[in-house]
Amino acid sequence: MSKQMKPESLMMSYGYKPELSEGAVKCPIFQTSTFVFKNAEEGKAFFEVAYGHRNLHEGEELGLIYSRINNPNFEILEDRLALWDKAEDCAVFESGMSAITTVLFEFLKPGDLLLFSNPVYGGTDHFIRHVLPKFGIQLAEFRAGQSKDEIIQIVEATGLADKLALVYIETPANPTNDLIDISLSKEIASYFANKNNSEIPLAVDNTYMGPLWQHPLEHGADLVLYSATKYIGGHSDVIAGACLGSNKLMARVKALRTFLGNMASPNTAWLLLRSLETLKIRMDTQAANAEKVAAFLSAHPKVEKVYYLGNITENDGEQFHIRNKQCLSNGAMISFDIKGGEKEAFLFLNGLKLIKLAVSLGSTESLAQHPASMTHVDVDEELKALLGITPKMIRLSVGVEHYEDIIYDMSQALDNISI
Ligand SMILES: *Cc1c(COP(=O)(O)O)cnc(C)c1O
Repeated sequence: MSKQMKPESLMMSYGYKPELSEGAVKCPIFQTSTFVFKNAEEGKAFFEVAYGHRNLHEGEELGLIYSRINNPNFEILEDRLALWDKAEDCAVFESGMSAITTVLFEFLKPGDLLLFSNPVYGGTDHFIRHVLPKFGIQLAEFRAGQSKDEIIQIVEATGLADKLALVYIETPANPTNDLIDISLSKEIASYFANKNNSEIPLAVDNTYMGPLWQHPLEHGADLVLYSATKYIGGHSDVIAGACLGSNKLMARVKALRTFLGNMASPNTAWLLLRSLETLKIRMDTQAANAEKVAAFLSAHPKVEKVYYLGNITENDGEQFHIRNKQCLSNGAMISFDIKGGEKEAFLFLNGLKLIKLAVSLGSTESLAQHPASMTHVDVDEELKALLGITPKMIRLSVGVEHYEDIIYDMSQALDNISI
């Protein structure tokens, strides 16, 4: 019965049995490294399942063994996160980067080819370009706006099309809000999978929109990734990550997590359980605020261009169709170009009083930063120019404050700039 309820109704209770914790209404923090077995036979049975020597019997659950393998806090968190994306299984990590890098390592081996979209989060970009090649992994890349045929051409031009093993995309892309078509990316993965008679999963970093505003699994993605530090955590007080997908793929992700040891701690999981209770109301408020803030910026004489999903119109062609197809909201991330350059952008940032000058996003407080010199400083200069990440760009994550106060703060900071 509970399966049919909306996820927001289940965030306070799903997967937790009070009778196992002295009736405590809230799940306590299971701050323990290991769990006592009732007898040796039970320990043996748990290990058989944990190490894949046999499958679970009908109705059997994997018993608690050791907090690198399982722990009530992170298991309940995984069950609750799976509800939003209607995923079979979920794995939580100590950071978004550890979720992303675990997936890259699990599905790529030396000699393989990775196809990825641009731009991606700065840390992901660094890992793909500077770490994966050390393990003999080859790269092919594309960006928003390129057609299916063009992308297939890019892969074929590498001469390694038969080695394509994973497609990795991020949409909307950070910081430009460029959209990548999820179902088209899956078609490309399937095209090569059929040719090569192999499996080529599609992984989507859904941090910007998730887990409420976009459900990549419904559009053909095989794996969804989150920096849970952002909307899921939502209070700028915890670093965490998550990966969701089918039981089959997640068994591989979880096995590598066990051996890398980068699972979320009981304390991190407990903080996220608390955050999930207000996820829907926070994100609803943030999206409603963002609409007002984007309207203000779009009409401001000192603002040259606003990058916001709500500003995409029919004139933007493919981007308009992709947004309507896969985004359930326009989100709460807005980038904009100030008239001028770095000097004017810095005058604005230094003039903010309520909005904090900090990287990260998706939190209760509004945050502003300068992608070209901060989050995306590591991105190749030429690529930055091509993608439109220029010194006049500001990225804003809209929080839950009253929208009039956010707008007032931006307005007075824009007044600092003389043009
Ligand atoms: C922040 C972020 C990450 C990295 O997550 P951490 O929790 O900081 O490790 C990955 N992708 C996107 C889109 C992000 O915004």
